[in-house]
Amino acid sequence: EGIWRLSNLAVSVQNDPGMDFLGVSDGLLQEIAKTIKFPVASMLPAEAFTVIRKSFDARKMLKEPRFVYTVDMDASQLISLEPRTQDFISDLEPRVGFVEYRPQERVSGDLLSIIRNSKSVDKQRSSAKGGYSICASSVDTNKNPTIRKLKIAVVGGGPSGLFATLVLAELGADVTLIERGQSVERRGRDIGALMVRRILESESNFCFGEGGAGTWSDGKLVTRIGRNSDSVLAVMKTLVHFGAPKNILIDGKPHLGTDRLIPLLRNFRQHLQRLGVSIKFGTRVDDLMIENGHVVGIKVSDSNERLQHGGQKLGYDAVLLAVGHSARDIYQMLLSHNFHLVPKDFAVGLRIEHPQELINSIQYSGLAAEVHCGRGKVPVADYKIASYVNGEDVDTSSNLEPKIRSCYSFCMCPGGQVVLTSTDPSELCINGMSFSRRASKWANAALVVNVSTKDFEALNFHGPLAGVEFQREFERRAAIMGGGNFVVPAQTVTDFLENKLSVKYLPPSSYRLGVVAANLHELFPAQITDALQYSIPMFDQELPGFISNKALLHGVETRTSSPVQIPRNSETYESISFKGLYPIGEGAGYAGGIVSAAVDGVHAGFAVAKNFDLFHNDI
Ligand code: FAD
Repeated sequence: EGIWRLSNLAVSVQNDPGMDFLGVSDGLLQEIAKTIKFPVASMLPAEAFTVIRKSFDARKMLKEPRFVYTVDMDASQLISLEPRTQDFISDLEPRVGFVEYRPQERVSGDLLSIIRNSKSVDKQRSSAKGGYSICASSVDTNKNPTIRKLKIAVVGGGPSGLFATLVLAELGADVTLIERGQSVERRGRDIGALMVRRILESESNFCFGEGGAGTWSDGKLVTRIGRNSDSVLAVMKTLVHFGAPKNILIDGKPHLGTDRLIPLLRNFRQHLQRLGVSIKFGTRVDDLMIENGHVVGIKVSDSNERLQHGGQKLGYDAVLLAVGHSARDIYQMLLSHNFHLVPKDFAVGLRIEHPQELINSIQYSGLAAEVHCGRGKVPVADYKIASYVNGEDVDTSSNLEPKIRSCYSFCMCPGGQVVLTSTDPSELCINGMSFSRRASKWANAALVVNVSTKDFEALNFHGPLAGVEFQREFERRAAIMGGGNFVVPAQTVTDFLENKLSVKYLPPSSYRLGVVAANLHELFPAQITDALQYSIPMFDQELPGFISNKALLHGVETRTSSPVQIPRNSETYESISFKGLYPIGEGAGYAGGIVSAAVDGVHAGFAVAKNFDLFHNDI
């Protein structure tokens, strides 16, 4: 009896119905039979098996691409088959890729059901992020948490702010969610105006607005903080609760796409409003109210109040700052109050775009025909590449210290488009987005090189916001190179490697506001350009055809992660500078990406609830 987990079950493309099929096919049953050494595959009942994870593996080292499954087997369903099967089951022994498993140890629901069942919040530290691990079953108090109307402001409606709001509102706090940008409906219109009429709304754009920076995105839900951790599972299940397709729980590389994110966020908002959360869109936090070392509230303004140089003061018991890393005004404001801010390493570079067909054929060879614009058997091809560059490997004319740098692809968007993520018209930076089918004819990814304080200092940027100034410097240079009007400077990868302007030919780009030939090899300090020029030929060895005159580099990618950390207490999540303020998510330097930001929001929500004794003392 019991549940057995079978991993690494490989099914060939011919024997599999395709990536969208998440059930148990005959091909998979045959593979299961081989793994458990069961003689007749057709006797195995499909109901006994549940697909837990399915990925497509097209690595070059394999003889042929294949689907790879993790499956749970409910042995009790096999026992009822017939006597001989019973003997077989009783002989099962754990071995590699085949272990007995206790699913009851895992989180079983989304955050809403976890909190509503009022089970417990495990006080143990989470191994993944130093937060609270969520455990639905360890302590069953069978009591609802005591509700005390604690007044909380959550500043920022990105993943970290939304999930923190959800936890606190479900636990009964009186939460106000304050977002400088607009609701997804109005934000969609503002983004439309940007793409068509070149009007950049400084408060409602690709970075600011409901859902945060990741709304008009590829919606990749991959994370480096442990796909199977309880917190990640709870976040993923909550996304399903609000309308994400169930396959994000199974797909090895889940993604949503902008078209799915928008209705999901609307459902999320309606749920928060039903819980009594007051949501203020178009409202920007300009300052903090601080008394005796305590943050006791915020100063906010909407566009009308800003015109009249006015604003409002609002008092709160606690303020969660979930503003993302494009809110540079907030870093400045914190510095003006002498908050302790620490510059953080991040990465900068260029975004490369290839025809998606080219990437499909590099990755899949003959199977590329199976992609069918995201409707075929195999997923639209992506890639992930990295190289390490020793300072001595590259011939650098700059006087920066030679050091080992990593150069890697970041935020790859198969079947996507390059978009403008500037929040100020004098600066130009880009990123990528896609729709759920990933059906566009382009594949884009950032190629970035890590940078640190030494690089900031070499350009004479010092102090806690040196990294922000470093980003801004290259965003301004890119805007000037583009010639204004959000036109992006571009260069073919072949010309970039040869340090020459792409005068003869500039391939088409998915970027809607136009590209212009520019000397991108002159944009960054020599060490960054050298690292890119050294790494791109390495990437071409891994993905032959990557260097192509159809591949276009776009400038500039600067906002890969936060350039600043706002230190906080690792238990209470409270700022180490002032009580009552909780810096969370990517902008605080504690997350990178949609899922990890959401998880940080969950942990912060529980930490604040615990600090204010929202649970009572019995957990
Ligand atoms: P954010 O999402 O940045 O949210 C912060 C919010 O705070 C914003 O809505 C902002 O308007 C608001 N705010 C800021 N200042 C104030 C203020 N003063 N007052 C009130 N509100 C304020 N990650 C992935 O994992 N997968 C992807 O596919 C992916 N694609 C991306 C594509 C694009 C185009 C971009 C820009 C980012 C992408 N990311 C992706 C990164 C991801 O969006 C972020 O890591 C994530 O959104 C960070 O969440 P957050 O809650 O910490 O901050």
